[in-house]
Formats: sequence, C-alpha cells, structure tokens
Amino acid sequence: MQSVDILIIGGGGAGLRAAIEAAKSTLNVVIISKEAFGHAHTEKAMGGINVAIKAPATPEQHFQDTLKGGWHIGNQKLVDIFTREMPDRIHDLVSYGVNFDRLPDGSFYTWAGGKQSAPLNLCAGDYTGREMMHGLVTETQQRGVTFIADHYVTKLFASHRHIQGALALNLKTGSLVFFQAKAIILAAGGGGQLYKITSNEPSNTAEGYAFAYDLGAPLVDMEFVQFHPTGMAYPESVRGSLITEKVRGHKGKLLNTKGERFMKRYQPERMELAGRDEVARAIYTEVKEGRGTKHGGVYLDVRELGKKDILKLIPDVYEKFKSVGVDISREMMEITPTMHHMMGGVKINEWGQTPIAGFFAVGEVTCSIHGANRLGGNSLGEGQVFGRRAGMKVAVFAKTARQSAVSKKDVAAEVDRITSFKKRAKGIPFRDIRKILKKTMWDNCGIVRKKAQMERALMDIVALESRIDEMKAKDILDLQGCLETVEMLKVAQLITTAALMRTESRGAHFREDYPEMKADWEKNILLVKKNGDIHKEVVPTIKRS
Ligand SMILES: Cc1cc2nc3c(=O)[nH]c(=O)nc-3n(C[C@H](O)[C@H](O)[C@H](O)COP(=O)(O)OP(=O)(O)OC[C@H]3O[C@@H](n4cnc5c(N)ncnc54)[C@H](O)[C@@H]3O)c2cc1C
Repeated sequence: MQSVDILIIGGGGAGLRAAIEAAKSTLNVVIISKEAFGHAHTEKAMGGINVAIKAPATPEQHFQDTLKGGWHIGNQKLVDIFTREMPDRIHDLVSYGVNFDRLPDGSFYTWAGGKQSAPLNLCAGDYTGREMMHGLVTETQQRGVTFIADHYVTKLFASHRHIQGALALNLKTGSLVFFQAKAIILAAGGGGQLYKITSNEPSNTAEGYAFAYDLGAPLVDMEFVQFHPTGMAYPESVRGSLITEKVRGHKGKLLNTKGERFMKRYQPERMELAGRDEVARAIYTEVKEGRGTKHGGVYLDVRELGKKDILKLIPDVYEKFKSVGVDISREMMEITPTMHHMMGGVKINEWGQTPIAGFFAVGEVTCSIHGANRLGGNSLGEGQVFGRRAGMKVAVFAKTARQSAVSKKDVAAEVDRITSFKKRAKGIPFRDIRKILKKTMWDNCGIVRKKAQMERALMDIVALESRIDEMKAKDILDLQGCLETVEMLKVAQLITTAALMRTESRGAHFREDYPEMKADWEKNILLVKKNGDIHKEVVPTIKRS
C-alpha cells in the first residue's frame, strides 16, 4: 500500500495542469498513467487552443460561440469562467516554455475554426498538443510531482461518499498496488475506442466515466459523441487518424466523387467551416447516397494552399499522407468521419468537484463547457482552466482531510475479480468482445441514430456483458485489455441509454426518427448509479447568473 495526499489519474494536459497547481502546496502529489510520462493522448492534439487573446476576438464572443456551437445546452456558468480565464492560462503555458505561432510583429497568430465568429484558435503548427505537453511536463517535473507510469487503475474506492483510494495494476510486473489518498483527481480522458473508427489513442478506453459512475458520481450529456468530419479513410492501418480542422480553416475544400463541393447543399454560408456535427453528417449523407469513395469517404482538397504553406501550416498532415504515398500538395486526401470526442462526462462544479468528498474530475472525462457539440480548440483549454482550478481546490481540501481506511474485504474482492481473468483455464480474447462492441456502437449509436438501432446496440451490449466471464488474459497487456473492456461495456450502455432518452436531434446527437431540435429539450440528461441501476433524470441547463 502507498499513502499519498493527492492522486491524479491521468498525465494528459488536464492532469498535468492540475498537478502543477496542487504541487504549489506542501502536499505530496502523484500522477499515475497507463503510458510513459509525457505521452498521453493530449500529445496528439493538432489544430490549436481557443482563446480570445487578440482583437477582434473577445471573451464574450468566445462565450457566445461556445454556447451556440454546443446548441445552447452547455453549462453557461462554466463556459463563462472558461472564456474569461483562458487568456491567463495561455500566459501560464508561455511561461512554461510553450511556443505558439506568432506573426512577424511578434503578436500571436490566430485563425477562425468551425463555427467561430472571430479568430480564436491559437496554435503551434499542427502539433499544438505536443508543444503544450512539452511545457507542461517540464513544469510538472520542476514542481517535484511524482510520476508513476505504466500503471492501470482498476477501480476507485469510496466509503460514505468520501474518496479513499485506487487500486492499480503495474503493467510491467503485473503486481497490484493500493494507493490510499486523501483526494483523487480523475483526468482519465475520453473513450474513442468505443467506436470502430476513431481518432483517439488506444489508451482512450473510457474507464474514467465508469469509475466515476460506479462511485455514484453523476454523469451528464453522455449521448453527445463528436464525430470529427475528417479522419484518414485509407489504408486500414491509419483509418480514423485525425486530419485537423486547420486544413478546412486554410482553404481545404470537401468534394464528393462527382467533384461537387457538396457543403453548398448543406451549409451554404459556412461551407466547410460549419459545425463538426453538420459537416460529419453531410459526409455521411454523401456516402450513403452513393457519392462517396469505395473506402466510404469523400475528398479533402488543400492543393490551393500550395506546398510552401502546407509545409509551414500543416506539416504533420503532410507527413501523415506522405507516409501512405499521398502528396497532398498534388493529390486530394481521402477522408471519413471519425469518432473524436465525448462532450459528456462527470458532472463537476467550477472547481472540478463532484458530490463525492475528495473526488475531483477534469478534462475530457468531465461534462463542462461543450454542450451538444464541441468547438474545435475548446478541449485543450478546458483542461487548462479547470485543471488549475481543481488543483487549487484539491490542495485546500487535502490539507485538512484525513485518510480514510479502505475495507480489506473490498480490496480483496477487487483483487479476486482481476485475477479471475488470468486463472481461467480457457476463454476468449478481449478483442473478440471489443470488436463486436465497436461495430455495434458505430453502426447503431453513431453519426445518425434511430430507436430500433439503438435498442439493437443495447441488446448487443447486454449480450456482451453476459460474456465478460469468458474473457481470458494470457499476459499483463491482455489483462489490461479485459479490464478495460468491462468498463467500456458499462460506458457504451450509458451512452446508448441517454441517446434513447433524447427524443430530438441536437448537435452531435442526430436522430432520423426525431430530426427536429425541440425547445423543450434545451436540458441535460443526468445518469447516476442508484441501487445498481441507471437512475435517469432530465435537468435544467445551468445558466450564467
Ligand atoms: C487526434 C486528436 C486531435 C485533437 N486536437 C485537438 C486540438 O487541436 N484542440 C483541442 O482543443 N482539442 C483537440 N483534441 C481533443 C483533446 O486532445 C483532448 O480532449 C484532450 O487532450 C484530453 O485531455 P485530458 O488531459 O483530459 O486526457 P488525455 O490527454 O486523454 O489523458 C488521459 C490520461 O489518463 C490516463 N488514464 C486513463 N485511464 C486510466 C487508468 N485506468 N489508469 C491509469 N491511467 C489512466 C491515460 O493514461 C492518460 O495519461 C484532439 C483529439 C484528438 C483525438
């Protein structure tokens, strides 16, 4: 057993920012992650980070764009804090050594992304996440935070709605270690791996949502899953890999196989820079109606930008396609929508707190500002603003909190559950279960949904859950895969349950059987575990006071 003051689960942008702030206290702060230090999914973020840092952009306009982009159900109180505090968080990042793109006069270079009414997007080439992680890692190290890499948290423990700690599997040795903590910040990122085609890293397996749900913390807006319009369509090995919105923000045009710039039919004003939900749905329709490529995609053409600017503005995109034999300065890219982001998640207040004492959450695993559709560039910032806030608050909490002893019986039960996957004489690989899950989520609870399909998804999920005890782990990574798959099934059920409840279309949630947006659905769906079941509630959206 290890005893720590503050345990942060997740070493992405949100977790690191929380750690930096918490470490300003004298408490001991430990970050735990599945991957090596500095290589969390945030590293893969490309296009940029939204901030009203330069005229004509203002925090109020950033507020309005975020709310409008989220189809008016984002938490206005949090959006307000976010848009007002973002400029200071950029100055923090610059002080950690992060280099954002600048113009020859030294001012920041900003551009307008999808659904932005002024240039809000600040970037570092098309490798913004990598650049940010570099600065955050350096600062975290300087603050003396302990980093425990290659560990998979299997479960969080709480008693009488007070956090106690977490059990983790060492992915190198297979040993189990219990971290007793005064407070825990969950910064476990998203769940792209729930879907067949995704831009997310393999580590984004959604267990953060399930851990919080199992503790009894409410989840909000789980039905809103963002499909980014432009992932690579081909070859299979790179399918889903993200092509940043920056391409469409810099002369990129979408064309079908007839050579038509089809966005004219769907969003004649904003064209390719309409909302991600709108563009993804337009591509889906083009493909469904027979105007897509044989790999189920359409074309993205950025040739007009010219090779010099392509190499300057989107070098990573150029390299990604070059590695599969396509020169985007001379040929078109073949792209498909790809599961990209979860707008919903753990319900938090402005300090990242949940109703479980000592249990905080930040970053993509939370439901904070995005509403029904996230604006590109708002997620990196969300992690910075609420990471700092949670870090400040957790330090105050942990200073006076006492460690509460976990029940040995509860830990032993969890150890038994974990080891059962190894002990089983024979069984099926977790990949068999995951493959069916990913397909059913993509086909039945994806870009376009309807009741019968979602019920089909639920039936598939329930059938897969009944096969959990058939999974057999041959080695440690297999064991991690089995454990992740159990949590993925829970989260898939939560997404589908909320999607079935919302009998309208809004943002990323589009229902063929309810194609209209309804004013009386300007509300949020809250799911909470009660007596082992999903308790569902429709709650009013939080307004700016
Ligand atoms: C390809 C791509 C490009 C993107 N580009 C942009 C962009 O340009 N701008 C923007 O604003 N947003 C972008 N996004 C979204 C953004 O990158 C993410 O939402 C954000 O980085 C999430 O940060 P996070 O800190 O919450 O989580 P992550 O960076 O995902 O970190 C999660 C951490 O939790 C750890 N973890 C999870 N579960 C466990 C467990 N059980 N045990 C131990 N550790 C665990 C992981 O190991 C990891 O360290 C992009 C997303 C993708 C997929």
